[in-house]
Amino acid sequence: MPSKKIYPKARAEVLAVQPYAADLPDLAIWELKEKLGLSHIVKLSLNENPRGPSPKAMKAMEAALQSTNRYPDFEGSVLRQQICKYLDVEIEQVTLSNGADELIFLIAHTFLKPGDEALIPFPTFGNYFWASQLAGANIKTVPLVDFSINLHEVLKAASPLTKVIFLCNPNNPTGTAVSKRDLAGFLNELRKDILVAIDEAYIDYVTSPQDTSAVDLLRQHQNIIILRTFSKIYGLASVRVGYGVSSPEIINAINRYRLPFNVNYPGQLGAAASLQDEEYWLESRQLNELGKKYLEEQILKLGLTFVPSQTNFLLINTCINSRLLLNEMAKKGVIVRPGNAYRLDTFIRVSIGTMEDNMSFISVLQESLSRLS
Ligand SMILES: *Cc1c(COP(=O)(O)O)cnc(C)c1O
Repeated sequence: MPSKKIYPKARAEVLAVQPYAADLPDLAIWELKEKLGLSHIVKLSLNENPRGPSPKAMKAMEAALQSTNRYPDFEGSVLRQQICKYLDVEIEQVTLSNGADELIFLIAHTFLKPGDEALIPFPTFGNYFWASQLAGANIKTVPLVDFSINLHEVLKAASPLTKVIFLCNPNNPTGTAVSKRDLAGFLNELRKDILVAIDEAYIDYVTSPQDTSAVDLLRQHQNIIILRTFSKIYGLASVRVGYGVSSPEIINAINRYRLPFNVNYPGQLGAAASLQDEEYWLESRQLNELGKKYLEEQILKLGLTFVPSQTNFLLINTCINSRLLLNEMAKKGVIVRPGNAYRLDTFIRVSIGTMEDNMSFISVLQESLSRLS
């Protein structure tokens, strides 16, 4: 008699989440070439810096390759010290992570237990939901107002069970930002035993980082943690480096959960070098501004609308099903992010690329729209 197969059962919280299914917009360029049978891909779906990494970072990473037989610096001291100088904070206030994504998981697992509530605006970056669900928390969403996080609504939604609030500023996928002043007012009203995780993955692209970043608010507020990444303007998505800045107590708690050697050595040194490459940072911002202006003009010419953005991407209302549009555009090698996962069915999110990328995007968009309508 064939025996019935019996497997150990995973935790209920784990079985409740959808397994990650890599979709066209998540694939690497070589995979896209293979899958689509094309020799050239314009990838505008992951908000990467289209210029390639900083030459200074490349040199530092090459040097670091010499010692990949050795474990990296456990504490990531070189990089952490540079971050301290850059942000004017103390070394005990900084922890490194394997991309900001890992830090989102560390925050959720360090602070959330089953029965706790996580407050998350919607639509926003999906990993806050995923991490909070895996930690067993209940999720309460707070709808955006006019594509922006409305801090009054977030405050109203907080309950005695609320433990963590995730705020993406500027917000992915809408590109809108809330000001430092509004954040300060919000934090003054909020219970101090709620952790507010402020994800500043796109802070380098905002019009005025000084008036937007919450880093200065760390002086008055112990209950915030700011997340940053080297994957966006610093052009180091592949080596996976992010960091968190908070009060020493919060960082101490997170470090207990953090895996040893979570950030690789080439990543540590590449990030440290790129943090010092101000020229690369400025040029990347300029290229982005020019590209954004061009895309905005062209989108209006096509009779479409977009959400004004403080980031390196634009959310565009195409007025047709965005999945169909993605598939049509992919045939020509242009990959964008469809809005359906964000319940923005007719929207696409497009990263601002090189001028050449942006021009390809516009012409393929125009062609695809006329073919589909
Ligand atoms: C891209 C992105 C991240 C992830 O960054 P990694 O450092 O590559 O893990 C985090 N948050 C937001 C909002 C992002 O868009």
